[in-house]
Amino acid sequence: MIVWEKIKQFVRGRYGNDELNRVLSFSALGLCVISMAVRFPWLNTLALALLAISLYRSLSRNTHKRTQEAEIYFGCRIKVTSFFSWQIEKWKGRKTYRFFSCPICRKHLRVPKGVGQVSIKCPRCGKKFLQRG
Ligand SMILES: [Zn+2]
Repeated sequence: MIVWEKIKQFVRGRYGNDELNRVLSFSALGLCVISMAVRFPWLNTLALALLAISLYRSLSRNTHKRTQEAEIYFGCRIKVTSFFSWQIEKWKGRKTYRFFSCPICRKHLRVPKGVGQVSIKCPRCGKKFLQRG
């Protein structure tokens, strides 16, 4: 029980685990698997570096800085996932819609194909413009 108390005392006030740490750890695992197949030694070094960063973040007492890093990660993740979901939506509707972005706020918009030139009001910024459907 003394060991357990020492462990509890050691982890008290530490940042702990979050999604960024899990992504770093699974990326390191993936790099290890890839490096076994292609035999690039620098991939193992990169995997070790990712694991070291993950461990450092978990044991860090600077929770404010770790939270900021996690927010940056979530911002990047949202941009990447929205980009790919937009590409999938464009691919699925490529025969029935014409896709474009608002010239002011860059919101993704679509109009049915074959309707000719239509006047569009952006739902986000309210800008009106003409677009060929
Ligand atoms: Zn707009």
